[in-house]
Amino acid sequence: RFSTAAASEELITPPVHIEYTKHLINGQFVDSASGKTFPTYDPRTAEVIAHVAEGDAEDIDRAVAAARKAFDEGPWPKMSAYERSRILLRFADLVEKHSDELAALETWNNGKPFEQAAHSELPMLVRLFRYYAGWADKIHGLTVPADGPYHVQTLHEPIGVAGQIIPWNFPLLMFTWKVGPALACGNTIVLKTAEQTPLTALYVAKLFQEAGLPPGVLNIVSGYGPTAGAALASHMDVDKVAFTGSTDTGKIILELAAKSNLKPATLELGGKSPFIICEDADIDRAVELAHFALFFNQGQCCCAGSRTFVHERVYDEFLEKAKARALKRIVGDPFKKGVEQGPQIDSEQFQKVLRYIKSGIESTATLECGGERFGSKGYFIQPTVFSNVQDDMLIAQDEIFGPVQSILKFKELDEVVRRANATRYGLAAGVFTRNIDTANTLTRALRAGTVWVNCFDVFDAAIPFGGYKMSGIGREKGIYSLHNYLQVKAVVTPLKNPAW
Ligand code: NAD
Repeated sequence: RFSTAAASEELITPPVHIEYTKHLINGQFVDSASGKTFPTYDPRTAEVIAHVAEGDAEDIDRAVAAARKAFDEGPWPKMSAYERSRILLRFADLVEKHSDELAALETWNNGKPFEQAAHSELPMLVRLFRYYAGWADKIHGLTVPADGPYHVQTLHEPIGVAGQIIPWNFPLLMFTWKVGPALACGNTIVLKTAEQTPLTALYVAKLFQEAGLPPGVLNIVSGYGPTAGAALASHMDVDKVAFTGSTDTGKIILELAAKSNLKPATLELGGKSPFIICEDADIDRAVELAHFALFFNQGQCCCAGSRTFVHERVYDEFLEKAKARALKRIVGDPFKKGVEQGPQIDSEQFQKVLRYIKSGIESTATLECGGERFGSKGYFIQPTVFSNVQDDMLIAQDEIFGPVQSILKFKELDEVVRRANATRYGLAAGVFTRNIDTANTLTRALRAGTVWVNCFDVFDAAIPFGGYKMSGIGREKGIYSLHNYLQVKAVVTPLKNPAW
């Protein structure tokens, strides 16, 4: 039933080695207080590639103490904003210089195609840091025209110590979305990486040191969620927490933040984003974009277009072409040239995706292609397409986070709006039409933090990203992310008044 397009035999072999496996605390790479380590894997083979220091509450305490000191006493928040900006720019230059090596390490630990990491993600990382470097010296308050004889101004001050918890699907980009704005605003940081992908953040942290970031400003602890992550979210000396990951864990983070010191939380969570193809759409382009919207990054995207709604008049043509495109998708070793899809991140995600596929097969949906693991080692899954998917099926409700496209049929615009919005999520949506009125109607009716019209997954440093409903709280990137890392102080001073 299924044969995947063959990958070329040509391997891209950039230099890759693992140098940093310990926590970075107060400018030093250090072992865990407990001495414990945990293995990290190559998802192509499920082989261990390194043992990494395993942090828990004690390591978080040490890291928070370093960040606190660097904030309260250190030069960072008081440094001229121009100097901070120059350090961020120097860092971006160093990342650019080491891009191939970083991309290779990202691919090795995460399984994403090297070409994607090297040509798309690393340049985006560099661009984002330059963007935030540009903001550092443009953050300022207002003069407020209050009633009465007062001079009123607002100061925009850094919030303090930021606790940041990131996932494994885009380890370096998630690092960037969190660290860039926090540093530009003058905060200090304790960041916990995902247990699946601890390596690249430690590498770039070293580059930050080379760029001149003072010790204690950026601390990185590797470890698991319920131990290190929970200790960070509930720490009394952390002033703000930012999290990206699943909605279930997001709820825990919010609860820990509330029950400890009521620190503000920004959450970027799951999604089940609709991708709506109207009857007047350019079908070939729609097929390609809907394919990209779902399968990009092995389907491991929070904003994946995972409910493909197709108008009944173009449904059959779309389906045939979508299936043909999935069959052509090149799955294989992510270090090989032209490979579009590597392995899923780990055994847990691999099994979870296969369970969802099984539930699709057992439902009344039609399996058009795929449906099984690809190869016999590592965590590869065949690009899978289901048609005749109904709204109440598990594969149309849950975030699968894998290469599984669910195609649904619709008839009327009102109907598709209602169905597209009938989800607990609201992260993103895609609309495909040539009609400006249809586009305008849909963009306003869809309850999602991003609506892409005739495009998908367009990310830019300046474009805000975040969710409605249970897809999160707050926005990252762009000017909006600065608000997450600033306090506003109102300063009120009486004006000299001759009547007093
Ligand atoms: P997760 O939400 O559990 O993990 C994300 C991060 O949170 C990791 O750093 C993890 O260590 C940490 N974490 C986990 N439990 C924690 C806790 N109790 N306290 C503090 N931190 C904690 O996600 P996962 O288990 O890796 O993946 C599960 C599902 O989440 C996926 O199948 C996918 O649906 C979704 N997911 C979404 C995103 C996204 O970008 N929105 C990213 C990764 C996973």
